[in-house]
Amino acid sequence: MKRRELIEGALLGGALTGSGLNAFGQSPAGHQPQEASFTRKGEVVIERAVPGKPHAGKVLAAIQPHADDVPLFAGGLVAKLIAEGYTGYLIRTTNDEMTGGGSRGEGVLHNEQDNEAVARALGLKKTYDLSYRNHRLDAPSPQDFKGRLILLFRLLQVDTIVSYDHWGLYEENPDHYVTAAVVESAGWMAGMSKDYPEQLEAGLKPHGVKEKYYFARGPQIANRVVDISGTIDRKVESIRAVATQGPGGENGARLRARLAARRLRLPILGNDDETANRNYIKHVVLDLDSLHERAVPSDKEVGAPYGFEWAERFRYIGPYASRLEDYVSRNAVRI
Ligand SMILES: [Zn+2]
Repeated sequence: MKRRELIEGALLGGALTGSGLNAFGQSPAGHQPQEASFTRKGEVVIERAVPGKPHAGKVLAAIQPHADDVPLFAGGLVAKLIAEGYTGYLIRTTNDEMTGGGSRGEGVLHNEQDNEAVARALGLKKTYDLSYRNHRLDAPSPQDFKGRLILLFRLLQVDTIVSYDHWGLYEENPDHYVTAAVVESAGWMAGMSKDYPEQLEAGLKPHGVKEKYYFARGPQIANRVVDISGTIDRKVESIRAVATQGPGGENGARLRARLAARRLRLPILGNDDETANRNYIKHVVLDLDSLHERAVPSDKEVGAPYGFEWAERFRYIGPYASRLEDYVSRNAVRI
């Protein structure tokens, strides 16, 4: 499926919201409009880099089942939001035991180390590992999972989440679709005063998530394209940080060695193994090959129609402001 068809799927989504704007293109109370950074193109909102620290004081949580999910699908966005002032946390929901060489136990350790390196690469402040078993996330209690995320959202005062799209199509990995479903409901329930009231007695306050950036590794109803040209190298760094699984690792060096054995050389891979590893991620993983077998357009393909060198796409859900307040200010009369 071509990128265009995927983006056009956004037409099915109805009214769209952009950060700082409600579904009717108005600025909700308490939010400054950011016209300079957000423009509409058809039904897709374009998000560009913003100078300064417009998000100072805000908190984001990047929530991934596995060490490589956020780097691959949202590494550019997360690095961009951190550069623009967010404080960020990385929440990993499984222990990644099924990936990597060696035993399952070694996989757990190596992925744990990779995940810490991902947080450093993206500028995230701290990691939280929920450590549910890999590939078995449909087995534990969803209520337990939800309660743990609600506690973290309240504890960290999370305003914005980046995670898998609960409504992404043809996702086969239960860790992905279960995490997505639980994240979506936990983000809402964290703001309710009657859910987990003992957390409130312990000193936490209800705190609902206000903005959501959802990604998918298949067909998706995307409504936002984010220019990540300024943070593409941070994204590459975060993918390189995952050495135990995923398409990064030492693949560049291996390809360079295979070609050398045939007395061939690819100039894009550079002249040493580490340059080859990073350039392989940039030019093969994020461009040439991408995840086309899963109908995921490459970051180059997402950006091209909008004039961006590199871009990521999301289903974005933002704050909604009632038009009632505005109506009252314009129409209420004194009694
Ligand atoms: Zn994954």
